[in-house]
Amino acid sequence: TRTPTIALVTGGNKGIGRQIVAGLAERGMTVLLAARDAERGEQAAAEARAAGGDVHAITLDVTDPATAAAAAQRIDERFGRLDVLVNNAGITGNASGTPSLTSPDAMRSVFDTNVFGVLTVTNALLPLLRRSAAPRIVNMSSSVGSMAEMTDPNSPTSELVSATYIPSKTALNALTVQYAKELGKDGFLVNAACPGYCATDLNDHRGYRTAAQGAAVAVRLATLGTDGPTGGFFNEDGPLRW
Ligand code: NDP
Repeated sequence: TRTPTIALVTGGNKGIGRQIVAGLAERGMTVLLAARDAERGEQAAAEARAAGGDVHAITLDVTDPATAAAAAQRIDERFGRLDVLVNNAGITGNASGTPSLTSPDAMRSVFDTNVFGVLTVTNALLPLLRRSAAPRIVNMSSSVGSMAEMTDPNSPTSELVSATYIPSKTALNALTVQYAKELGKDGFLVNAACPGYCATDLNDHRGYRTAAQGAAVAVRLATLGTDGPTGGFFNEDGPLRW
């Protein structure tokens, strides 16, 4: 019998993350739905199981290294490895703040989740991912973090201003490339994804796409064949500019 692929999605209890969980479960994966709040995680996992998925809640606050270590230990005990990591958890902070009105603390708190959280979780789970025959890492970024887009006056996103959220996704993009370089020789495929503007709590449901539409690119990058790309940035239509 074929052992199922084991996947973990951070921030899996709602929004795009929840739809990534559903999409991976639909493809027959065993999915660990990671949530910082145990109750919200259990509730979302129970609903995913009711829909037929093999989905299990696991507590993980990406800003808390102790919870990442505990999650890694639980996964090790129960499954002995991890095949897919989707770093989806993210916050906007004060998304519209101009740099001159942004405090270091405000910027730090967004980076804590969107950048350092990815480092914390990825490094905690790397030993388990190294035991996979086909390890995949997907980082949920945003085209607003693209230097090419923000410096192009013709880009629809070049008018956006945020000294916290936008640079956090630029840094996440760079971190994605750095991981891809380090881990490529070990067969990892590490890519960044942009879901498009999706209606979720993150933007008070102003997005014009559904969370499920936003999840599709992450699901695709999580299920790439061995000849798939690494160190890239994609939305559902294909490669994006950095
Ligand atoms: P939501 O606000 O709907 O969901 C965010 C998820 O992240 C929640 O599950 C939340 O948990 C979790 N989270 C936040 N902080 C932490 C933390 N410290 N530890 C663990 N989990 C945490 O946002 P979206 O679904 O819209 O966003 C998902 C990702 O997609 C983010 O990285 C976002 O930047 C990115 N993205 C979204 C876009 C959009 O239009 N929506 C566009 C471009 C990128 P809790 O429920 O406990 O708060």
